[in-house]
Amino acid sequence: MKEWNEIKLFIYYNIDVIFKVMRVSKEIKVGSVILGNGNPILIQSMCNTNTSDIESTVEQIKSLKSIKDRINIPLIADIHFDYRLALLAVENGADCIRINPGNLGGIEKSKIVTDACKSNSVAMRIGVNSGSLEKEILKSDGINAESLCKSALYNSRMVESFGFDNFKVSMKSSSVMMTIQAYRLFAKETDYPLHVGVTEAGTLFAGTIKSSIGIGSLLADSIGDTFRVSITGDPLEEVRIAYQILASLDIRRTGVEIISCPTCGRTDINLIGLAETVEKLVSKSTSVVTIAVMGCVVNGPGEAREADYGIAGGSGVGIIFRKGEIVKKVKEDELLAYFTEILKTDNII
Ligand code: SF4
Repeated sequence: MKEWNEIKLFIYYNIDVIFKVMRVSKEIKVGSVILGNGNPILIQSMCNTNTSDIESTVEQIKSLKSIKDRINIPLIADIHFDYRLALLAVENGADCIRINPGNLGGIEKSKIVTDACKSNSVAMRIGVNSGSLEKEILKSDGINAESLCKSALYNSRMVESFGFDNFKVSMKSSSVMMTIQAYRLFAKETDYPLHVGVTEAGTLFAGTIKSSIGIGSLLADSIGDTFRVSITGDPLEEVRIAYQILASLDIRRTGVEIISCPTCGRTDINLIGLAETVEKLVSKSTSVVTIAVMGCVVNGPGEAREADYGIAGGSGVGIIFRKGEIVKKVKEDELLAYFTEILKTDNII
């Protein structure tokens, strides 16, 4: 008995050590949400309304108040170049202002915006990218991970010197490797909370891959307190991908995870169609379970032993299994109907 206790203590000790080496950032407040310091990692997306002309942008900012009244999530205004728009956004109820001090037109203007955030308890995101590097940094370092990190350090310390620390920092690049390296360098130097993402990542296909690698690598190293998947497409897709990134890293699961085999010479059913049908079937479920959809009855249950539920089919026979154990053998064309019934009985759907 004594030995068991000792073993347990040893395991806890090691878990403790693992947590200690993970990056713990400072806590900040964005609207009603607390960010950093181990709080849940937040997902962001961006409305893609047109802000290219000033008149309509001003009108849009003025409508922030009515948007705020109808939502209960933090609203962030992304402001470029004109510091007066940042002030307007603060006045009109934004919870956080994203600025890029490098393109705001000088230290004084950055201070005016910072003071407004401070007196209105509005958070700030200091965003740095390759287009906003300070002339001196650009001249001495060029565009690379080190210069992005240097610029982010310079701007964060400048804002901090104005007596304000309710900010997070981002340093995005369209290069996945440059993004990862810049954040890693910055994370070593500071405990400021970080908004991570790969910018201009591309269309749904390329953008999903680039964002998943970039954001995923950083989150796996516990770098990142909030993030945005950036794709040229529907913002709702960005959110779907973001949840999948969190689920894939076992950071946060919010629904059913489908695993399916890659198919091989043994596959005797239309597995692609079956997997898509099961995915649709459980798409609205909030149950945190894993469902396996496998291409053959011989190896399927064994290969997907860790799944909570599974189906496999082939040569006219279908099986339903739980944790690798077969619970029902049915005709292949009745597989889906029986499986649906089991999921309903267990309140999964
Ligand atoms: S489960 Fe069966 S069909 Fe799928 S990859 Fe494995 S052996 Fe092939």
